This record gives sequence, structure tokens and C-alpha cells, in this order.
Amino acid sequence: MQIKINEVTIKIVRGDITKYATDAIVNAANSSLLGGGGVDGAIHRAGGPAILEECRKIRDRQGGCDTGEAVVTTAGKLPAKFVVHTVGPVYQNGNKSEAELLKRCYVNSIQAAVDVSARRISFPNISTGIYGYPKKEAAEIAVTAVKEVIQAYSADSGETFLEEVAFVCYDEENERLYRQLLEKKD
Ligand code: ADP
Repeated sequence: MQIKINEVTIKIVRGDITKYATDAIVNAANSSLLGGGGVDGAIHRAGGPAILEECRKIRDRQGGCDTGEAVVTTAGKLPAKFVVHTVGPVYQNGNKSEAELLKRCYVNSIQAAVDVSARRISFPNISTGIYGYPKKEAAEIAVTAVKEVIQAYSADSGETFLEEVAFVCYDEENERLYRQLLEKKD
């Protein structure tokens, strides 16, 4: 399903993010940028060694990536131009600024994509795997953050901006949660 907000399509897709053609694929990375399990492992496997090579250069330059921040590399063999690596918060008890940090992942990833002139961006459900973020709350934060960014950019006319934001849900529960949120009128 999809909706449109100020000319930007927001789409829910079910499946493997490495198979979804876009300009910028967001990776739920860890702060070392050296790869890991889950979607991170899938992105590095499908994209090939060129991605890790650029991650190592970023590490040498700035020591990795902090939680809530985003860095950009090539997408290697993936059907995209870039990978935006962002580091989601590990969910602890909800009182460790997790919500704010998760929101920053979405906002900063879009900013990083726009900075390299990407027009289409795809997101996995950041932090909802190994990092343990409750899926419903994480989906609400993701959808709200993306809508806010689109509305803020749209107010600033003349800016080159996005055409599409895709939420690529790997599991059925996330797909259902995102659909419910997008169908909701507000
Ligand atoms: P985190 O450490 O941020 O929790 P994970 O990779 O463990 O990262 O999980 C984040 C989300 O990505 C989870 O919802 C997981 O089901 C999903 N995921 C795992 N593999 C893929 C994939 N190939 N494509 C899209 N989403 C994926």
C-alpha cells in the first residue's frame, strides 16, 4: 500500500530490503560499522566487499557512527546508488532516550540521502530485531518522523527533495503495524 504526502510517496513493502530497487538503502548498522547480523549482514552479503571497504575508511576518519547518526557509502552490487548506515538505539527500558534516538535515525538518514541527491530511500524496521525495540512504538516513531520531515521540507519550496520513502518490512507483524499507521487519518 502507499499514500502521498506533498508529492512524496510513502510505501509499505513486505520482503528483503536488498531486493528492493531504490536510490538509498538504509542499513540498521552498529556503531563499529563493521557489519553484523540481521539486515546489516544481508546488506553486506548482497552488496559485496565495496561497502565494508568504505565503512572502514569512515571508521579511520571518524571512529564509527554514533547512535542516531547516519553515514553514506556506495551500495556495491545492490539495486541502489548508496547505503545510508544508521545506528539505532538498543532498547533498554524506554528511559534511555531510545525514542529520541530512533527518531534521529530516520531524520538523519533522510538528510544524508538528500545530501547525496538520492530521490528514493528505503528503510528497514530499525532497532526492532536484535536491538529489541517494541515494534508498535518503533513503527509509530518511524512514520511520524518521516511525515514530519516531508512536511518540513515541503514548506521550503524550491528544494530538491524525495520522491519515495519505502518501509520494507521483513515480518508480517511489522507490515501490519505500518499499514495500520498509514491508513490512519490525522
Ligand atoms: P537492529 O539491530 O537494529 O535491531 P536487525 O537487523 O536485527 O537490526 O533488525 C532490524 C529489522 O530488520 C528487523 O525487523 C528485522 O526483521 C529486519 N530484517 C532482517 N533482515 C532483513 C532484510 N533482509 N530486509 C529487510 N529487513 C530485514
